[in-house]
Amino acid sequence: MHFDIASLLLAMTVAMLTIAIVLPAVMGEVNAPARRAQIGVMLQAAGWSLLLLSGIVESGSLADRTLSTFAMAGIAGGMAFNAIAFDLWCGRVAHDRAPALIALVLPVGYAIGFSSYAFRVGWANGLFTLQMAMVAASLWRKPEVPVGKWRGLLVISLLLQMVVTAWRGVLGAFFTESYPSFLAPHPVNLAFAVMGNATAVLSLVAILLAHRDEAARELMRLATIDGLTGVFNRRAWLAKANTDLAVSVRYSHPVAVVMIDLDHFKQVNDSRGHDAGDRALQFVAEALRSAVRAGDVVGRYGGEEFCVLMTYADQAAANAFDRRLRQRLTDNALDQLGFEVTYSAGIAMRTSPLDTLDALIKRADATLYRAKNQGRARTLDAGGLVLLPVG
Ligand code: GH3
Ligand code: MG
Ligand code: MG
Repeated sequence: MHFDIASLLLAMTVAMLTIAIVLPAVMGEVNAPARRAQIGVMLQAAGWSLLLLSGIVESGSLADRTLSTFAMAGIAGGMAFNAIAFDLWCGRVAHDRAPALIALVLPVGYAIGFSSYAFRVGWANGLFTLQMAMVAASLWRKPEVPVGKWRGLLVISLLLQMVVTAWRGVLGAFFTESYPSFLAPHPVNLAFAVMGNATAVLSLVAILLAHRDEAARELMRLATIDGLTGVFNRRAWLAKANTDLAVSVRYSHPVAVVMIDLDHFKQVNDSRGHDAGDRALQFVAEALRSAVRAGDVVGRYGGEEFCVLMTYADQAAANAFDRRLRQRLTDNALDQLGFEVTYSAGIAMRTSPLDTLDALIKRADATLYRAKNQGRARTLDAGGLVLLPVG
């Protein structure tokens, strides 16, 4: 069987161009990582198109130098954009800048050293290999968010490309007579072209899977987080609190439930407007987040009512949390909101292994309403002791 390298590379480039055109068309409105992945594919497809064009102009001419230099910039730039997309999809906020740096340095060095075939082939393929190794290493690292199998797919695809790219670099730089051009019928070119066709498809599948993963994560977030305050919504809080309560029973550690209701909140809305009310709710949620300990679960139970499940917390720990929260509101409300906010709260402790979340909430709620009746701006603990603001 006879293999024609140019046709194989043409097929690969057509596949990449098709993906580059079709992806933005079918994905519709997309966010930052998907947009970067699309740009990455477009640049790589453009780079390969230019490289094929450079194969039909006179070798070593100005046209060859210009087309191949832009080809290098496109391929390396595309990889840099893809690297950012993968970093974002893995939940990393600060992305690795090294692949982008290579995308700048590679074409510049290539253009300068173009007249030496051995240099430019060694230089370009060496840096491509390094760039792919960086992207693969970054994908290999444990992601910050749960991601699917597309990560492994990409690592395999990059490793395969690295082997043939490094092979080409070494041949071009040190065994130049046996490797006259990227279109020559050499086994490394055949391996590269076949691999290129396969990895183009793999990359498409990986990009679509990563995008779907992320959409699923976003849906999950929207379904569990309260849009205004950023804490768990009632349903998600109940689910998480139930799990934590079951764990506390199994290991016999104490658990507290705190129900918190803002005082005279209707008046805040009536006298200062609904926006001020919304800001106050966000402010209280932020204070809650900073007053709880790691592992405690904060939720918005209803309009201006919040709930906290504290694990490993005895009555003293729950009271200490209440003091921290009250102190934060006293210290910051006037500064940050322009008016004071107070709350009433009730604390309930798990008293037996048979205690249910429902029963705990009911007891905390009943205690909360006693705190309201006793004059608000206070917390009653499970024993009915009154915790008032300090000072
Ligand atoms: P009390 O001290 O007895 O708790 O008095 P209150 O005014 O806080 O109690 P009430 O339950 O009568 O009023 C709660 C108010 O909370 C009514 C509603 O307008 C307001 N509220 C509920 N959800 C929101 C919200 O998302 N944004 C704003 N701005 N206000 C809200
Ligand atoms: Mg209320
Ligand atoms: Mg209220």
